[in-house]
Amino acid sequence: ELTDITTLLLSRIRDVEDYPEQGVMFKDITPLLADPVAFTALTETLAEIARRTGATKIVGLEARGFILGAPVAVSAGIGFIPVRKAGKLPGATLSQSYDLEYGSAEIEVHAEDLSAQDRVLIVDDVLATGGTAEAAIQLVRRAGAEVAGAAVLMELGFLAGRPRLEAALDGAPLEAL
Ligand code: AMP
Repeated sequence: ELTDITTLLLSRIRDVEDYPEQGVMFKDITPLLADPVAFTALTETLAEIARRTGATKIVGLEARGFILGAPVAVSAGIGFIPVRKAGKLPGATLSQSYDLEYGSAEIEVHAEDLSAQDRVLIVDDVLATGGTAEAAIQLVRRAGAEVAGAAVLMELGFLAGRPRLEAALDGAPLEAL
């Protein structure tokens, strides 16, 4: 059973075949961002998750996790921390590399933005293999903070990101809208 909000959000996601390469069905959220009713509904739903999990910080994953996560942080009255691809943050960073289908990737966070008092909700648009979010969880823990949960707009079930991420979350909730 789909709720009204799920139906609204789904109607604003565009499937783009074979983008950015052959065989990938790209989930384009730009129609959702352009619709103030849908974007506000998404923001408020994620902000409610942030409040419920007792999050003190939102960690957004580059790049669409920035667009979704920043208004959630403002709505929930908590801080926003960008997790960026390697080489983009000017200060002292922690780095985490992770495996891709071919090769590897590396993400970074400013270490001083997180403390042992923080409970972090990780926000992104799409959960695919879960590799990026898993690496972000490792970064948050290495920075000394606690992971309150992870929240995504959608999960691609056939890629089995959920079991992988749930293992990494170690009991913290995973919410896919
Ligand atoms: P993963 O690490 O495999 O879970 O990939 C997650 C990251 O890749 C997220 O930041 C997504 O924005 C992006 N991503 C992966 N697959 C898709 C897809 N089919 N459509 C849109 N974004 C995707």
